[in-house]
Amino acid sequence: SAKAAGSNQWAFFKQQMTENAAVRLKTEASLHDALKHNEFLLYFQPKLDLKTNRIMGCEALIRWQKNGELVPPMSFIPIAEETGIIIPIGRWVIEQSCKVIREWEKKYNYAIPIAVNVASQQFADASLVSDIKQLALRYQIRPELLEIEITETSLMNDVDQAITKLEQLKSAGFGIAVDDFGTGYSSLSYLRHLPITTMKIDRGFVSDLPHDASIASTILMLGQQLNLDIVAEGIENQEQLTWLQQHNCQIGQGFFFSKPLPLDEFEAQYFTEMSMPLEQV
Ligand code: C2E
Ligand code: MG
Ligand code: MG
Ligand code: MG
Repeated sequence: SAKAAGSNQWAFFKQQMTENAAVRLKTEASLHDALKHNEFLLYFQPKLDLKTNRIMGCEALIRWQKNGELVPPMSFIPIAEETGIIIPIGRWVIEQSCKVIREWEKKYNYAIPIAVNVASQQFADASLVSDIKQLALRYQIRPELLEIEITETSLMNDVDQAITKLEQLKSAGFGIAVDDFGTGYSSLSYLRHLPITTMKIDRGFVSDLPHDASIASTILMLGQQLNLDIVAEGIENQEQLTWLQQHNCQIGQGFFFSKPLPLDEFEAQYFTEMSMPLEQV
């Protein structure tokens, strides 16, 4: 009967809830252990100047080395956000990135900017701005070498708060990028009030190129109007790259150039003597 079916569904639902809660608790505990035992690491993906084909920055992307297996962020960042442990994890990412910038300056006498992803809850945290400033001071890095990537959704949670924080970060000299741009539901009119430096066109719109260029063109026009740097994410082939070059997109990132690499491979690829003629930032 319908009633029996309903009650079965309820039992099933309850069982799922319990399992989900158990999985969450278990994952939260292992994320704590992972922090304690240093199981996180950063991979680095280059950002290229699409005119000169030179590297001009990179994005730090977290990985979890768990029992010999490399866990991608989408499998644990959402749980880290739900449980709040994203705050110390996110802080670790920023500290680690500051260390790497410092290392590069020491080892190679120059460095490229590193972009770090900041989660919604981490962005909402009251001590975020002072934490970032303190870390930059402690590792003696120039703030323009650290870029904060925030999604549109995080900015929309509390626009006034967001503007205040972004202004503090921007006036301290840090770069600010809106990640996955175009995937949120924000109105475009608020954008010009946000003190940002960069917009990243979401991979989904880049993968439509060159056949469907409507969203990418709109974002590029908007960015040019607002005088922002535009980064195209997820460039996977020559056709996409050609379209972007022809439409004056300055910066690109994607598997067509390189997958995210472990630190030593990234350095070997981009900081060897062969590639030394990098401009000082
Ligand atoms: P995101 O910030 O938009 O990062 C770009 C993602 O796209 C990365 O996945 C990257 O490996 C992938 N990607 C880059 N180029 C291509 C391409 O040409 N094709 C395809 N198919 N994919 C490409 P990843 O490293 O798995 O990270 C996924 C998401 O996890 C990130 O998206 C970001 O939202 C989040 N994430 C990564 N690291 C962190 C972190 O340290 N903190 C926080 N809060 N989130 C992070
Ligand atoms: Mg990002
Ligand atoms: Mg993105
Ligand atoms: Mg994304």
